[in-house]
Amino acid sequence: MEILRAKILGFCAGVRRAVVAADKALSENKTGHVYTLGPLIHNPQALESLAERNLKILTENEIPSLNNNDTVIIRAHGVPPETDAAIRSKGVNVINATCPLVTKSQKTAAEYAEKGYIIFFAGDKNHGEVIGIEGYARQAALNAGKKLNFILIKDVEELKKEIELLQKNNILTEDSKIILLSQTTFSIKMFELLKNELKNLYPHSEITSSICPATHERQDSLTELCSKVDGVIVIGGKTSANTNRLFKTAEKLCKKAVLIETPDEIPEEFYSIKKIGITAGASTPDDIILETEKKLIENSKL
Ligand code: SF4
Repeated sequence: MEILRAKILGFCAGVRRAVVAADKALSENKTGHVYTLGPLIHNPQALESLAERNLKILTENEIPSLNNNDTVIIRAHGVPPETDAAIRSKGVNVINATCPLVTKSQKTAAEYAEKGYIIFFAGDKNHGEVIGIEGYARQAALNAGKKLNFILIKDVEELKKEIELLQKNNILTEDSKIILLSQTTFSIKMFELLKNELKNLYPHSEITSSICPATHERQDSLTELCSKVDGVIVIGGKTSANTNRLFKTAEKLCKKAVLIETPDEIPEEFYSIKKIGITAGASTPDDIILETEKKLIENSKL
């Protein structure tokens, strides 16, 4: 059996940074508790092992009960400024593991909100990153005495509907300042469609894509991998969006594809594949990738 890894797989830079920060905080903490606001990453096994080391998950409602010897890690998605302030007001040790690309998006949204732009934001409604970015935009608009127009959209249909509504209410006119921004994990293809639609209707619209290369780098590496192997194992959390997108691509491009969270889930038939490819989502820890390779070698029937 030959095992080939996708050129780029596993932890993205932002997730690795947050995991390293958690690891350091857990090793150095002697007195209080170490918390993350929401789960640190989208991987059940990694969360389990962090929980065993006493990393606790904090909810917004629990912020008032923090003690000043506690540590709170702000995860890669970031948080709105009011949540950040509420945590800091407790005098805890704050480790800000917001991914630098997300921090950049927070600043960009705030800048445009301050200037009174209508912000069309391509992203997922309930995603922590979007909630955080909108929070920074809201704070900036408020400080500048401007009304915030932060319009969340996920496809062209929604964009058209929102434009119609804004026109009807006289919020969007020919003179309006308009910007299209995006969540870091938004689809490049859909962003292009949104951009074209907006430019078509309002040619002076400004466009700033904040789509992170991490997602499409893993997709491109997988596409290349699929052309060289007879089967692909995608490793990652079953509820992780980027892992599921990798699996969909693998299913489309490869004769055999499977999505596993742990090596125990490798299907029997994969031990009889001559050339096998491996990829992993952006929240998949290195040790699960290594264990998967080890198990394949140990149980190979070829
Ligand atoms: S996917 Fe990109 S933006 Fe999101 S945490 Fe990873 S590196 Fe940062």
